[in-house]
Amino acid sequence: MNDELIYLDHNATTPVDPRVIEAMLPYFTEIYGNAASVDHEFGYQAKKAVERARGQIADLINAKPDEIIFTSGATESDNIALFGVAEKYKDKGNHIITSVTEHKAVLDCCDQLEKMGYVITRLPVDKYGLVDPNQISDNVTTKTILISIMSANNEIGTIAPIKEIGAIARENSVLFHTDAAQAVGHIPINVEEMNIDIMSMSAHKVYGPKGIGALYRRRSNPRANLSPRIYGGGHEQGLRSGTLNVPGIVGLGIAIKIANKEMSRESLRLIELRNNLFSMLREIIDEVNLNGHPTQRLPNNLNVYLPGIESKALIPGLKKIAISTGSA
Ligand code: PLP
Repeated sequence: MNDELIYLDHNATTPVDPRVIEAMLPYFTEIYGNAASVDHEFGYQAKKAVERARGQIADLINAKPDEIIFTSGATESDNIALFGVAEKYKDKGNHIITSVTEHKAVLDCCDQLEKMGYVITRLPVDKYGLVDPNQISDNVTTKTILISIMSANNEIGTIAPIKEIGAIARENSVLFHTDAAQAVGHIPINVEEMNIDIMSMSAHKVYGPKGIGALYRRRSNPRANLSPRIYGGGHEQGLRSGTLNVPGIVGLGIAIKIANKEMSRESLRLIELRNNLFSMLREIIDEVNLNGHPTQRLPNNLNVYLPGIESKALIPGLKKIAISTGSA
């Protein structure tokens, strides 16, 4: 790729960290065993690597390793979370609370569930993209089985009041799912402190490979029960069958381990770069305004608007900069 091109679309996807690639390579060529076929060294070593990655993810979010389920990414994790809860708790209720600014992976599941007879409350957000926790508690009914609110928005970078929402969910004995694809590895997430019961994660937003992700599922106090979306050999506690993508899982684990170690320093670096960029834009452009929250936002996100200028018209002219107007 041309070195003169500047890539600024990291909320869509990140390049893979060379340290991640290095860690993955042996699992294509030497340790290629099936992690579910452990009667020999090839499979045993693959399984060991998978379990190491499970531990690395659990460490970052303060979960237990057996609460991590590997999936193909946050889209699949969202699908397991929403349909999994809907199916499992249908005798308790049919009501789900979410917000209008969720990723399509959540919104489309909700549309589909609505067609199946579930009742969906899609809460509005304020001018910063924040959902009001009071509105969540006001909308909980005896039929509510799930609250699904993303941790951080993929377009404007606004960070939701996850801890407050988790507390409301717990007070009302409703399960809380958060799509944390943009948050995990970028901002601290602690499933215990935040009362998160189910959480979606993706490797390619944190310098890991595409096509691999994970689902956190609380196993106790309370246990979040889920029905599977993919049936087969009973892998991943029967929640997600299919031969495990061992190199991808190793890559996800290492990417998360690196994020765990470097997040606090890296976020300070990114905030400075982001703020400098915004100041420079303000110096050279008459009017440029920020979308999203001024402080409660992802360190790596800047989203602006220029009154009177259509982004779709502007972006094709910026031939050396890779930016985007919205979600991938
Ligand atoms: N949820 C959010 C908030 C995202 O930003 C993305 C990324 O596109 C996804 C879900 C989908 O993730 P994946 O590409 O891993 O399926």
